[in-house]
Amino acid sequence: MTARKCPICGKPRVHEHRPFCSKRCADIDLGKWAGGVYAIPGEEVAVSSGTDPEGPDAPKGSAAADALVRLKGRTLH
Ligand SMILES: [Zn+2]
Repeated sequence: MTARKCPICGKPRVHEHRPFCSKRCADIDLGKWAGGVYAIPGEEVAVSSGTDPEGPDAPKGSAAADALVRLKGRTLH
């Protein structure tokens, strides 16, 4: 069984704001879908699973390719 948690911050959800824990998290989720999905700074770090030395100035397209290279390198290792 999975605990009923807020999908935004992971805290126990509140009935009044379900499936979130607060109106704040509900607003965050709403904004996420409304203005470019997951385009919030900081989210990309979780995708690349690590600190990106190139920073936010790096071209968006190369991020996925770079991650793929790292994945292959890890597999070979
Ligand atoms: Zn929350």
